[in-house]
Parts: sequence; C-alpha cells; structure tokens
Amino acid sequence: MSQRIFNFNAGPATLPLSVIKEIQSGLDNYKGCGMSVMEISHRSKWFDDIINDAIIRIKRLLNIGDEHEVLFMQGGASMQFAMIPMNFLKDNETADYINTGTWSTKAFKEAVIQGKKVIETASSEDRNFSYIPKELNLTADAAYVHITSNNTIKGTQWADFSDTKGVPVISDMSSDIFSRSFNIDKFGLVYAGAQKNMGPAGVTLAIIRKDMLEKIPDNLPSMLKYTTYADKNSMYNTPPCFAIYVVQLVMKWIEETIGGLSKMEELNRKKAAILYDFIDNNTLYKGTADLDSRSLMNVTFRLLSEDLEKKFIADATENGLGGLKGHRSVGGCRASIYNAMSIEGIERLVEFMGEFARKNG
Ligand SMILES: *Cc1c(COP(=O)(O)O)cnc(C)c1O
Repeated sequence: MSQRIFNFNAGPATLPLSVIKEIQSGLDNYKGCGMSVMEISHRSKWFDDIINDAIIRIKRLLNIGDEHEVLFMQGGASMQFAMIPMNFLKDNETADYINTGTWSTKAFKEAVIQGKKVIETASSEDRNFSYIPKELNLTADAAYVHITSNNTIKGTQWADFSDTKGVPVISDMSSDIFSRSFNIDKFGLVYAGAQKNMGPAGVTLAIIRKDMLEKIPDNLPSMLKYTTYADKNSMYNTPPCFAIYVVQLVMKWIEETIGGLSKMEELNRKKAAILYDFIDNNTLYKGTADLDSRSLMNVTFRLLSEDLEKKFIADATENGLGGLKGHRSVGGCRASIYNAMSIEGIERLVEFMGEFARKNG
C-alpha cells in the first residue's frame, strides 16, 4: 500500500491526517526541548502544558463548567465497567442498566461479578439489539442508570437522553464522544476509550460530576477509585503521556480546523445521511438498525448473502476502503465513520458500493 487508505475500522480507528503530520513534524524534538513527547517527564512543564490544554479544550468543546472534573485514566472502557459499581454502588443500593448490546452486557456483568444489586430495566435483546428501547422502567431511587450511548457493534445510538428524575446517568460514550453536542448536566459520569473518536488506544477519558466523588468509599485500591485521579490531576502515577498528547491535538483539530462541536456534528450528520440514503435506495444492501435508532458513527448493513459480503469486503479492501467487516460476533458489514472520516471518504465508499451492486446485483 503506497498511500493511506480510507479507514473504516471500528477502533483503533482513523485519525485526522493533519494531526498525524503534526505529531510527525516535532517527533524527535518537541517544541525545542531536545526530546520527544515519549521521553519527557510527566512532571515537566512541557507535559503539564499538554494535559492542561487538553482538559481546557475538552471542557470548552463539551461546555463543561466547574461541576465536572475531566480525568485521564487507563484500562479502557472495560476497566470502567468494573470501577463503576465498585465506586458508586453500595451494598444496600441498586443500579439500573439498559442493555443495548455487547458492551452494555459486559458492563452489567462486571457489577454482577461483584455481587452488586443491579437490574436490567430495559433491553433490546429480543430483536438482536437493533433498536434503542423506549420504555426504560427506571427504578426511582437507583444509585445510577447505566447506558451505552452508541452501540459500536450493532450500529445503534441514543438520539437523545430522556429525563431520569434526578438519578445520575452514567454513559459509555466510547464510540460517539465529540461527535455531537449533548447536555452534560444530567450525567454523573461519562467515559470513553480514546481509540474510537479521540486518539490512540491507551488512554480513557472520564468526565465525572463532583457530587459523585463524594460517594466513593475509602477502602478501594488507589488506582481503582476516581478520587485518586481527581485529587492528582490524573497524575497520581505516570499517565499515558503520548496518548494524552494526541488527544490534545485532536481536540485542537476539532476546535480550530473543524470549527467546534456543532460544526463537527453537522458534518457527521451529513456523512451518515449520504451513506444511509444510499443503502436505503439500493436493493443489494440492507441496514440492520431501526431507522429511529441508527448510529451516526457505525453504519451496519448486510448484503444478500454471506458470500457476497466476503466479496464486498475483499473488493473494497483492494480499492483502498479498509475495515468494512462487521464485528466478529455479528458478521455482516460495518462502516465506522468517526469524526476523522472525511466526506470524500464517504463519497468514495458510496461510489464503490454502487459499482459493486451493478456488477453483482
Ligand atoms: C470499544 C468499546 C468498548 C471497549 O473499550 P476498551 O477500551 O477496549 O475496553 C466499550 N464500549 C464501547 C461502546 C466501545 O465502542
């Protein structure tokens, strides 16, 4: 491959080329400090500037005030699954979980393993997780309600977040954070692995409302409680410096190149519309998610047969369109069209899909 492909992988995923070039240009000598970002101390002024700028940009983009803390952690979204019940669910309390697919199921299981009282109050498993449930049946005094805002594998997404009557919402936003604006106020915790829409694997963003920090028991291991990260500006131990640096650059890209989150959202809606419109108007392809639950980030679809899907993915790869295979647990096809996927990439994909349909339909 002599040039970059259009990368539709679900995660790790495509990053803005300008960000990659920016990393490259100063790689061996970051801002004249005589070292690369991989080599500087996390206690240095250089790194302090990086992490603080990243936090400021994140707060500005999501319109976050002083009620929330922005934390950088490790262990991916999967470690958050375990930490959430550990930190926020006492033995005499219950928490609600909405099950919309693989990741929600995993989050729920981590609470069950710990012997916590959790209730699956709503689920879309009856129709293979192809929609977002409308009746949530929330428990009035639940400690929290856990949702997965975008279901990366099934291609569904919460269009908006309903009123939970004061019960804090905890959301796994791994695959749609920074793709659209939302009101942070009702969220007690939002978390996301960086490798879908924010940067490389290795850092996890957590945005926590300060009142949630007060609920955390003292007798937890230091690395497994949010207070440790909040008290030390995410530097209780060595943070994933390089990954945080890339996140900083991606945030700068959203603000300065794209023009902010509402511009980003506009672009994402436009991209998804082009692709879904094409799928809906071509008989060779069939979207798998209900229309009102469709994801702006992960477009899942099937062809008429599995053999045809194999050929489609192989031909696409040969044409510089990579990563279109569905998750190994569900099969089919999936185009992940995160922030860094350009309109041009979508147009190329649609053009290819049209040609493929003409030849194979
Ligand atoms: C990818 C993904 C995960 C898993 O994240 P890790 O960082 O690998 O633990 C969890 N939730 C969602 C919604 C995802 O897309």
